[in-house]
Amino acid sequence: MTAAKGRRPFIAGNWKMFKTVGETSDFIGEFRKLLPEAPDADVALAPPFPCLETAVRAAAGSPVAIAAQNVFWEAEGAFTGEVSVGMLKSLGVNLVIIGHSERRQYFGETDQTVNRRVKAALSGDLSPILCLGETLEQRESGRTFSVLAAQFSGAMDGVSPADAARITLAYEPVWAIGTGKTATPEMAQEVHVFLRREFEKLYDKSLANDVRILYGGSVKPDNAADLMAQPDIDGALVGGASLKADVFAKILRYKGE
Ligand code: PEP
Repeated sequence: MTAAKGRRPFIAGNWKMFKTVGETSDFIGEFRKLLPEAPDADVALAPPFPCLETAVRAAAGSPVAIAAQNVFWEAEGAFTGEVSVGMLKSLGVNLVIIGHSERRQYFGETDQTVNRRVKAALSGDLSPILCLGETLEQRESGRTFSVLAAQFSGAMDGVSPADAARITLAYEPVWAIGTGKTATPEMAQEVHVFLRREFEKLYDKSLANDVRILYGGSVKPDNAADLMAQPDIDGALVGGASLKADVFAKILRYKGE
């Protein structure tokens, strides 16, 4: 499958606001034992900020990369509650989720603020996992593609081709997050093809072929294989099902090995 797509699968877990420092080290200890020695996919976990240092230490020497769930665009200053690229890098964090729908829905994130975060991350050598997705109301009113096109072009405004090559996209239909409703593999595939074309329009065919596009929204061990079988689905961003080590490990073994 990797060879056919030419893109290495990527499975990332987003813990949102779950787990203490102790629970983080327990999870990673258990998860490491369940991991194949050489997994068929890149794997990452995004714990809350206070758990990042513990997570980096617990995952050292394993294939598990540690991601942050957000980052601010300024390097430092009077920005209470924010965390900079340099602070994350100083912990050994090299990946960051940007533009998650919960940030857009509850914390006033816009395409413009997403764009500032994306550019700051890239200029500080932190690779973004850029989340995009439509709400149920937007899908039902036939606006899925226009919403995604605007989110994509807004987030990528001013991003050079060299930097764009370091981005992972995550298509996360808002109506499928934490609801148990998954987009069918065909519905997700249709959107992934659309996003790859948007990437090609803004950059070129080669970058568009290389960009990894993850699907997120109620991914579980029993639907991962069907989603991953789609030609343009390159991985998964997993919320709820990444909170238990055995369940998340099963998703990583979606090929059934
Ligand atoms: C997410 O938060 O990115 C997500 C996809 O959540 P869930 O898997 O719980 O739907």
